[in-house]
Amino acid sequence: MEEATCPICGPGGRAENFLRARSEESLFSYLRCSACGLVFLSPRPEAAEMKGFYGEEYYGGEDRKFRSGLEVLRRFFARARVRRARRYFSGSGKVLDVGCGQGTFLQLMQEKGWEGYGTELSTRSASRPMQAGLSVSVGEIRENQFPADFFDLITFWQVLEHLRDPAAVLQRILPLLRRGGIVAVSTPNVESWQARTFGEDWFHLDAPRHLFLFSPRTLEAFMTAHGFRLQALTHFSWEQNPYGWLQSFLNWVGFSGNSLYTLIKNAPGSRKRRFTLRDQGKIYLLSAAVLPLCLVLSGVMGIIHRGATIEAFFVKE
Ligand SMILES: [Zn+2]
Repeated sequence: MEEATCPICGPGGRAENFLRARSEESLFSYLRCSACGLVFLSPRPEAAEMKGFYGEEYYGGEDRKFRSGLEVLRRFFARARVRRARRYFSGSGKVLDVGCGQGTFLQLMQEKGWEGYGTELSTRSASRPMQAGLSVSVGEIRENQFPADFFDLITFWQVLEHLRDPAAVLQRILPLLRRGGIVAVSTPNVESWQARTFGEDWFHLDAPRHLFLFSPRTLEAFMTAHGFRLQALTHFSWEQNPYGWLQSFLNWVGFSGNSLYTLIKNAPGSRKRRFTLRDQGKIYLLSAAVLPLCLVLSGVMGIIHRGATIEAFFVKE
């Protein structure tokens, strides 16, 4: 394990205890920076140790992440993200999707005439977009991997919170983005009602994989410190937030370990067998019963600016 510091205020700052979370038999602590309010995991597993928390079950099956019906939904939401990202451009351009996963977003951008590039840490996940002919590299972005001012748009969809050194990654991508270019970020909101209501049962906490938990304020402070200006921020995410309510609720009533997520993911059968058929039935029934409420709550939280995940667009000054 290693100590972490606030990436906005740097080492030497004070931090207070924020939350403890048990995950996969270990207890993890989140601290909150006393100066800026950013929440981060500390101590945290070393990089090599962390690989153990990104196993096959995290990434889902080889061909697709979820079972088939949900794949349709996943593409629908990815298409909506493509629409939102394209609002900032009159024509097409070049896009870099950091942590592109199976490449759905990139593929849909290419269909709209964009030139798409991606990076992905998992060789397994990257193999699918590579086979589809997308330009995806495995590993973190390297210096000089792309020419300066190359990209018009760089996206971090649910990625920033996973990075060990998000400040270093932003410094590396800044020269690659042209002036006036856009960075899109979606990330869990630690100041949401969902986070506060459920605490360690909050689905989007995802300890220890989520090393940083932002809020609208800390995300803006972090991005501003690296030369970006906030253009738009929304608390509505139909892709993330209703499901967050649902799974957090199931965790809270005792179907821990993100039960529904495990069942609907295209995960190895061994994971699913943790739940008896009777429990699986209960999980599905409960889910169907509370889903309407989850949708309503997500809408309300969007309106009052307390969304469980936020999506923001920043422009490079
Ligand atoms: Zn700080």
